[in-house]
Amino acid sequence: MKKFVSMLLFMSFFFTMFASVGQAASAAAEVVPKLFLNGQLLKSEVNPQIINNATVVPVRTVSEGLGFQITWDNTAKTATVNHGTDVIKLKLNDKVAMVNDQMVQMDTTASIIKGMTLVPLRFIGEQFGLDFEWKATEKEVHMYDQSAEPTDPTVPPVTNTAGWITQVAYEGNSSLTIHYDGAVKANKPLLLDNPKRVVFDFPYTAYATDLTSQLLSGQIEVNVSDSTYLQKFRYSLFSNSPETARLVIEIGNDTGYVLTEDLGKIQLSFMSLSDVPTDPNAPIDPPIVNPPASNDVFDVVIDPGHGGSDPGAKSVLNKWEKEFNLSVGLKMKALLEKESKIKVHFTRTGDTYPSLDDRIKFAENLKADLFLSIHANSGGSSASGAETYYYRANSKSFADVMHKHLIAGTGIKDRGVKKEAYKVIKQTTMPAVLIEAGFLSNTSDAKILFNDAAQNRIAAELVAGIKEYLNVK
Ligand SMILES: [Zn+2]
Repeated sequence: MKKFVSMLLFMSFFFTMFASVGQAASAAAEVVPKLFLNGQLLKSEVNPQIINNATVVPVRTVSEGLGFQITWDNTAKTATVNHGTDVIKLKLNDKVAMVNDQMVQMDTTASIIKGMTLVPLRFIGEQFGLDFEWKATEKEVHMYDQSAEPTDPTVPPVTNTAGWITQVAYEGNSSLTIHYDGAVKANKPLLLDNPKRVVFDFPYTAYATDLTSQLLSGQIEVNVSDSTYLQKFRYSLFSNSPETARLVIEIGNDTGYVLTEDLGKIQLSFMSLSDVPTDPNAPIDPPIVNPPASNDVFDVVIDPGHGGSDPGAKSVLNKWEKEFNLSVGLKMKALLEKESKIKVHFTRTGDTYPSLDDRIKFAENLKADLFLSIHANSGGSSASGAETYYYRANSKSFADVMHKHLIAGTGIKDRGVKKEAYKVIKQTTMPAVLIEAGFLSNTSDAKILFNDAAQNRIAAELVAGIKEYLNVK
């Protein structure tokens, strides 16, 4: 989703206006029309211009000036414009638009000219209730928002507000989500003490109507009872010029957060400082690992995947994945039980099927130090190789170490360390890794994985990986 935000900022995404009948005069390209909303000039980093009798303006002028949210899906070649609960979808070179799932015929289409995506502004604006006026002599486009009645006639309307917060919601799991329309961006947050809190200001941002009425008395405060990382949060309109929304979150000691931006929402996930990736823009970069003190005994959970009624992937050798997973797991068990600093725990030691939730609960209740899930892959007959998966940032360095040993143990093709939201490695909290030791659908991989000597080697390498990561000699 982050990808999308940058795309929105950097792509040349333009609107056409007034794609009208008549002769396309190339001289018209010299005309620079001005855009007004409710009499206020909309500033634009790039001059509006007329191309083929259509006025085009940069998307930011429109999204920030008019508060419409625009997304461009490059695969589907579709622009989606949101305003409140109204949605318009425009497909490239298609004269039929979808307005709230109803087909509507347009005079103009969305098109790409010289790398710029152009969509008809007048069509969009009118769907969202804007009135248009073209002042030909002045070369001015005037748009009027019929609903823009100032609530207090003595206060001039604020015209530079770019976004409206519609909801600030605690979503459980120490996460807050700020939902908005238009364009909303936080300033660099302030960290303050007594009580420890983090303060976000959102300039050029107001609140949606129903929140505004609730905020007349000042602020909205919400207590959070189920999180060690945040205690309460409150929000208010901090300033009127420009309109600035403020969000204050009281947090625990050693608490950090990750901010993620999505379409129409900003999510703040609070967590232990040690779990915060060093650069929130690169969440897969691991934090520095602090191996626990050397005299500890480490609780390690080994999770042979599948089992019982769930056989997993079928191999070309007619054996099942669950057999491979358990066999390697039990070989690891024999080796790990010799380690005085490691206490090993198994989600299954027989042909049984604990649910994924059971496996997660098992590791969480133990407050285990590490979680390793053993699997083998399946795909086309030519797909081959071993992969190691992690999901949370605190698992990346464990994944790197285990993968090195997995490749050494299997001796098969290296498909790399990957990030994927597999449930057992996502919903556990300790460093957690899932290995796919090879492809059972590939004859060469399957022969290795069901070979007893190879399994001994794989088990020994995986144990060596755990010891290396835990710094156990
Ligand atoms: Zn599996």
